[in-house]
Amino acid sequence: MSREAILEMLRSRAGDRVVEAVARTPRELFVPEDIKHLAYEDCPLPIGEGQTISAPHMVGIMCDVLDLHPGMKVLDVGTGSGYHAAVMAKMVGPEGHIYSIERVAGLAEFARHNLMTAEITNVTVVVGDGSVGLPEHAPYDRINVAGTAPDVPEPLKEQLRPGGRLVIPVGTSYQELLLVTRTKEGFKIEHHGGVIFVPLIGRYGFKL
Ligand code: SAM
Repeated sequence: MSREAILEMLRSRAGDRVVEAVARTPRELFVPEDIKHLAYEDCPLPIGEGQTISAPHMVGIMCDVLDLHPGMKVLDVGTGSGYHAAVMAKMVGPEGHIYSIERVAGLAEFARHNLMTAEITNVTVVVGDGSVGLPEHAPYDRINVAGTAPDVPEPLKEQLRPGGRLVIPVGTSYQELLLVTRTKEGFKIEHHGGVIFVPLIGRYGFKL
């Protein structure tokens, strides 16, 4: 596939602002050197440590479901290569900010390098267990989780601002993408179809 083919495919699945953010984020800067020629394949790719950079269509769908706007504060759980955080950073603009948390220190370092190369300055990468969230910067307008969990982690729900949205894959052999919205009455859950993600490993995720 080419970069233009990826964008064409995304136009049928996501809104214009998502397509524009993906168009402005060079995926080749977020994949390891030896597989840069595969950067515009619409599939997950290995980034080391047994982990993957998500497929562009999945990043696009999750950004669309999250409904990101300029100025928002976002928590991103599972930084990986930093690509998904970079696309969200374009959508929230310079007045918004992405706090991205990764449990594997080597990947956090890889992501910081990639984000610097892509000249993205509104993402902060932190090392830790994102299944407990990142309370020091809460509440968040949006939370994005890029690993499948046994259930929606309670601390993530609690760190959402009223009206805030959380997108997360949940399940084991069958995983579903859930959208959790914090309402005046509590939490509303919508289902957005079957997905395949690596596990979220941590206190409110799967155990090692
Ligand atoms: N969003 C990433 C990208 O754009 O490259 C892809 C993320 S990859 C599918 C999932 C990531 O979640 C892996 O890097 C993994 O190490 C990380 N992870 C798993 N459990 C975690 C946890 N409890 N807290 C933070 N990161 C976690």
